[in-house]
This record gives sequence, C-alpha cells and structure tokens, in this order.
Amino acid sequence: MKTEQESVVSVRNFGPLENWKDLVLSVPGLPPVAKQFLKNELGLGGMEVSLNHFAPGDTMPFTHRHRENEELYLFLTGRGEFAADDERIPIESGTCIRCAPETKRCWRNSGDSPMTFLCIQAPAKGMPEVSGIDDGEVVGRAPEDFR
Ligand code: ZN
Repeated sequence: MKTEQESVVSVRNFGPLENWKDLVLSVPGLPPVAKQFLKNELGLGGMEVSLNHFAPGDTMPFTHRHRENEELYLFLTGRGEFAADDERIPIESGTCIRCAPETKRCWRNSGDSPMTFLCIQAPAKGMPEVSGIDDGEVVGRAPEDFR
C-alpha cells in the first residue's frame, strides 16, 4: 500500500465550514482548539495547511512566530483583528495576511459570528522561482464528461 506521500492524489473531506467547529486538536498544556492540520492527512510535501474555527470571542491564547516558515492566513468567514508585531489589521471575509517567519502574530474573533480560516505554512525561502501559473502545464482538454 502506498503512503500518502507516494500517492498522486489524496482526498479528505472535513465537511462544510459550519462543521469546522467540531474539529479537535489537543496540544499538551493548552485547551483543545477547533483545528485540523493537513500535512500528514494528505501527505503534503512542501507545506503545512490547517483548517480553523474560532467562535465569537475566541482569541489565540498566545502570540507566536516561526523559525523557518512564513504563513498565509486566509479568512473565509467572520470578523476580527490580527496583531502583527505592532500593527493591527482588521479581519473580514476575504482578508489574506502573510507573515514572515519572525513576525509576532496573534488574532481574535471580535465579531458575533464564527470565524473560519485557512493557515498555509511553507518554508519562507523554499519556493522555486517558477510557481503559480508558470509552474502549470496544459496536458489536454477537460475530460469528455466534464464538457
Ligand atoms: Zn504559526
């Protein structure tokens, strides 16, 4: 049997955004949080991704930074505030925030609805120059049954 890393496609479904409140990550010394990491689940080789849910009033219980990895926070729902070093950034649906590894960061849901977001973590210096659309290659038309 192939490991996730050896497979060409890995698929998991964690349900609609409103169900992300039921995700559970337990870290010793901290209260459980509604979070799911995907690196091991999907066999990701060059990034870590997490699915996250903050209920109204939830605050990240600590400020943190990274040693090697930058992070991209993609806020899908909810409103809040993001602290990046001395800067305060309002969060709403569609807000995308990149933090360099050394950026000290914390955030909170200060709205009255659930906040859902993705966090993508990757080596700050690890992406090759060719990426995004330049790394893609058209190899054929869409499958017949998709047209
Ligand atoms: Zn982080």
